[in-house]
Amino acid sequence: MDNFCASLWPEDPIPHSQKDCRECGLFEHGSRMVWGEGNPDAPIMIILDNPGARENREGNPFVCGTRQTLQKAANVTGLEVKDLYVTFILKRRPIRTYDKEKTRETCMIHLKEQLTEKKPKIIFCLGNVAVQSFFQNPEAEVKMLRGSWHHINGFKTAVAYHPLAIRRRPNLEALFLSDWRMVAEAFKNMKA
Ligand code: SF4
Repeated sequence: MDNFCASLWPEDPIPHSQKDCRECGLFEHGSRMVWGEGNPDAPIMIILDNPGARENREGNPFVCGTRQTLQKAANVTGLEVKDLYVTFILKRRPIRTYDKEKTRETCMIHLKEQLTEKKPKIIFCLGNVAVQSFFQNPEAEVKMLRGSWHHINGFKTAVAYHPLAIRRRPNLEALFLSDWRMVAEAFKNMKA
């Protein structure tokens, strides 16, 4: 995975009706909103907890560590940007403490709308926050659920560790790539 060069994927514009969303309070103390990235019509929807910054402190485009690790895994397993859409449980990144349960539940309304509109063929949840929110089970954990398929909210769903977990604990990389391979193979079989 060492020679791969990550890039900033196109940002999916925020729907006009949601640009001023103030439902959960994060508009006051969160990052700017990021609705999604990649191909908005992609067959595989990746769900993360919240968006990392797309700009550095000077305001220049920036590919964060989460995006670098995610894109490397996609590249290694033969998936392309056109195959993938990345979105988030929270469309803003919290900066201060907040009511996690209530905020996630509130912003999930937007994810449900995206699912209804986009109808992805595969959902790939990365990290415990995304898994617990999407599975609607606060006890759900990646380590218990990874490596097999689940049918959640009517979607064929796989899970894997969060890319940041891989950066902190490189010994998890083999499991991470194994889960990406499972998703890539299922997708290729759907096309065959
Ligand atoms: S995080 Fe979600 S619910 Fe909260 S203000 Fe942003 S879009 Fe609205």
